[in-house]
Amino acid sequence: MSIAVYPGSFDPLTNGHADIAARALPIFDGLVIAVAVNNAKNSLFDVAERVEMIREEFKDNPNIEVESFSGLLVEYLKARKAKAVVRGLRAVSDFEYEFQMANMNRKLYPEAETLFLMTGQRYFYVSSRMVREIASLNGCLNGLVPDHVALRLQKKFGGM
Ligand code: ADP
Repeated sequence: MSIAVYPGSFDPLTNGHADIAARALPIFDGLVIAVAVNNAKNSLFDVAERVEMIREEFKDNPNIEVESFSGLLVEYLKARKAKAVVRGLRAVSDFEYEFQMANMNRKLYPEAETLFLMTGQRYFYVSSRMVREIASLNGCLNGLVPDHVALRLQKKFGGM
């Protein structure tokens, strides 16, 4: 069984994240979408809500598991017996951070590889941060996030 872990904040899941997960799926036997617990980051949704939203999105896909994890990603990889990390790339601006992290993870756990998948063109500009901002200003979220995520965002910001 080749298992890959797709880690991230997913605050909240966007169509860009979902696109990367869909692209990774045919490459591996199983994909674990892992929501990182990061107390230093000020998040809009708590970890349980983020996990719920991702589970809802992929409920019909038995090859996708959704979990949260805390601590070092490499320890989580070992625990899950995963040899690959999936990350998405949008623009050059993602590269520097991703490059550092992939190399640090390689130093800590050389047995695992990081695979970068390029998002579909429609999602180059989609980020959770922008989505949160648009939602907070009551903007249109069509095409940016799944409908059930848009609903939760509207509730958060008192839009309905
Ligand atoms: P993190 O806080 O760890 O960067 P994110 O939830 O923001 O977590 O993103 C998780 C991963 O998904 C990262 O590799 C990020 O580059 C990627 N990603 C986020 N949005 C998109 C998108 N629109 N298209 C492709 N990849 C994306």
